[in-house]
Amino acid sequence: MDRIGMKTPLVEMDGDEMTRILWRFVKDELLLPFVDLKTEYYDLGLAHREETGDQVTVDSALATRKYGVAVKCATITPNADRVKEYGLSQMWKSPNGTIRAILDGTVFRTPIIAAGIEPYVKNWKKPITIARHAYGDVYKAVEIKVPGPGTAQLVFTGEDGTVITEKVHDFAGPGVLQGMHNLTSSIESFARSCFSFALDSRMDLWFSAKDTISKKYDHTFKDIFQDIYNAEYREKFEAAGITYFYSLIDDVVARVIRSEGGFIWACKNYDGDVMSDMLATAFGSLAMMTSVLVSPDGTCEFEAAHGTVQRHYYAHLEGKETSTNPIATIFAWTGALRKRGQLDGISALETFADKLEAACLDTVAAGLMTKDLAQITTLPNAQTLTSRQYIAAVRERLEKSLAQA
Ligand code: NAP
Ligand code: MG
Repeated sequence: MDRIGMKTPLVEMDGDEMTRILWRFVKDELLLPFVDLKTEYYDLGLAHREETGDQVTVDSALATRKYGVAVKCATITPNADRVKEYGLSQMWKSPNGTIRAILDGTVFRTPIIAAGIEPYVKNWKKPITIARHAYGDVYKAVEIKVPGPGTAQLVFTGEDGTVITEKVHDFAGPGVLQGMHNLTSSIESFARSCFSFALDSRMDLWFSAKDTISKKYDHTFKDIFQDIYNAEYREKFEAAGITYFYSLIDDVVARVIRSEGGFIWACKNYDGDVMSDMLATAFGSLAMMTSVLVSPDGTCEFEAAHGTVQRHYYAHLEGKETSTNPIATIFAWTGALRKRGQLDGISALETFADKLEAACLDTVAAGLMTKDLAQITTLPNAQTLTSRQYIAAVRERLEKSLAQA
């Protein structure tokens, strides 16, 4: 069989621990036999980040900006334990944070739905993608513990000398005080990433905030989204048959629970933090979440939402075969290959991505799965496979499906 050709390389960001092991299995068994894979390889494994003074992370992000599509393996974000374990010269920053800052991107997380892994919410039939604004608000707030009676004010002093003052509160006794901010430029990037991703994935976009209570702060978010939609995206949305919808966060929460799924939910920073964990759990498994970082211009970096699965890696180092779920890692590759196919007009690459995803899900539906899924499946007689056995079962189905073409 001829392998599928590629034009432009994917930016490949290798990572750490168990996911680095899976990365190799997935490439060897499910990609290289079928695709003449073109990648520009960056090793973001912690040892190589240390060797390069973390320059490799920056270089990989710049390459993503150049080529437009990247696929990333999970990586360790160092803490004090990791500094010791890897003998690091410093506690390098989170690679995801570095890449997100360079690409000015928004993270979209989508659950992978498989037959036999049922969401807790019965009426959810399609995935709900959550987009979290990753700048400002309470995450960059300054706070004061008010010791006793006094007046609190919010003061803005412009470079041109303008002074705007608002009284926050006349305290009669002790209390607490918080000042937070956001930036028009960051909200605009967030909005454009959301509209761009909705067009790419052909899903409706919902955005929630609390503009009735926060008449300037949240209202600004609402207005920026609406203005950018009207000026840049309305026609494209209408042509694609999708809609943009704003509502209050409490209304949206109720609608999400009653819905069938199949849309993107854009959230402010705190709402997204809370709601993404709620959705991941309600859909069944952290190992079944994909994540894509999207810049305002549509540049995409695909990855699994889970980490490096450290506990399994130590078992692997002891020579044990682990049952680590590779599905989200495989879907990071298929997401990236599909996007590359779309950009370069290679429909065979898109079809391959569809078939590989279907082979992963059909294998689960046939009762063959890793331990994390076997523990929660509603299928009778599910078999627990090791990662390698599961990947082999996927390959068998994939070969059959490709041969049918
Ligand atoms: P984790 O790697 O997501 O794993 C937490 C637990 O979830 C695992 O111990 C395992 O449970 C289960 N799990 C996650 N993915 C799984 C999979 N594919 N198959 C089966 N089970 C899976 O989180 P962590 O242990 O908190 O973090 C480990 C490292 O990952 C940290 O150094 C952290 O910095 C990094 N991290 C990276 C990213 C990223 O690069 N995007 C994201 C998050 C964390 P059992 O042990 O019960 O089987
Ligand atoms: Mg959280």
